Amino acid sequence: MPPTAELAPIAAASTTYAPSQNIAELKESATIAVANRARSLRAAGREVIDLGAGEPDFDTPAFIRNAAHKAIDAGATHYTATEGILPLRQAIAAEATAIAGRGATAGGDPIQAADVVVSNGSKQSLFNACFVLFGPGDEVLIPTPSWTSYYEMVALARATAVPVWGDRERDLKVTAASLAAAATPRTRGILLNSPSNPTGAVYGRSELAEIVALAEERGWWIISDEIYARITYDTPATSVLELASSRDRLILVNGVAKAYAMTGWRIGWAIAPRTVSAAMTAFQSHTTSNPAAVSQHAAVAALTDVAAADASIAEMVREFRARRDAATALLDAAGVRYVRPDGAFYLYIDVGGDGGAFATRLLDTQGVAVVPGAAFLTPEWVRVSYAAPREQVLEGVRRLAAAL
Ligand code: GLU
Repeated sequence: MPPTAELAPIAAASTTYAPSQNIAELKESATIAVANRARSLRAAGREVIDLGAGEPDFDTPAFIRNAAHKAIDAGATHYTATEGILPLRQAIAAEATAIAGRGATAGGDPIQAADVVVSNGSKQSLFNACFVLFGPGDEVLIPTPSWTSYYEMVALARATAVPVWGDRERDLKVTAASLAAAATPRTRGILLNSPSNPTGAVYGRSELAEIVALAEERGWWIISDEIYARITYDTPATSVLELASSRDRLILVNGVAKAYAMTGWRIGWAIAPRTVSAAMTAFQSHTTSNPAAVSQHAAVAALTDVAAADASIAEMVREFRARRDAATALLDAAGVRYVRPDGAFYLYIDVGGDGGAFATRLLDTQGVAVVPGAAFLTPEWVRVSYAAPREQVLEGVRRLAAAL
């Protein structure tokens, strides 16, 4: 793959097609592009170690699959309410209320099912939130590096994504002070993500509390993407729900994809103030309607059979931790610089030069797929996903360290 091809706008005019203004600057998702490239190389007979995709390599736990079989047989094959089935929204609301309850402020009243909108993956929830909250003239702060799609989603809403670069000394995390310095009178919101994709860094409670306090003081919308919340290694991740003094300007996004190994089921959700959840539902009613009925029933099982879910999450996290420890030991031995991940399943590696060229060379000569850091607006880095079988992760990291 050419190093910057995935970052060039995709819109190419032809004699019959002039790209609309909406997508004039749109870039293809680099994370998806790397996964597709690895897949097509494999189909062509090449051996590829795919450390690109951020997708757990585990099967969806049996108790969830069984619930889905039962739901199909019981007729869950029709449309549902646009915002999702009530038992799922109730389970999401109950779980979020319990999380909010861990905090000193507790963010006000219990979360209700009516605050919840279920979508086709947390990606759609994030897009819906950006689209209904922001528009032309609005600026949205994005701690950087961040997941590639945040920048595009804000741009698709015709607002301006404002990257705020984190410090190397702080695992590439931002501070309330650096965010305040990047703010202008047009700042309308901030997109938070802890544990972070692509670094695996986890914001400490006081770091996050300072950021939440700043956003509340300035009246910014907080969109907090907590999709990796259950995948942490040292200390549990703090949720913004635990810190917010009110939920009036808070959109909490989560889903079942990562913690429950349910990427293909496409179930995510947003918890929002009632007016915003109504707007997101109306928007979704014109775009995708409800997420798949059977997937929603599977997600109910994931959230309500707590003992089975906790056991399978613990097992997956144990394996991710073992991979992280073994991979970082290899990187340490080779003197490679990286962010030591406390959560998620990514290693963010400083290649000290053009990460895109490095990723291309690594794939072409070593058969190892990683995501160039330019996708996360930090071009001197590459992202390695260790959500792949352990021996592949270690072989891939060995080849990467040797190539460096
Ligand atoms: N979030 C995952 C990643 O960063 C999945 C792919 C995507 O949707 O970007 O790799």
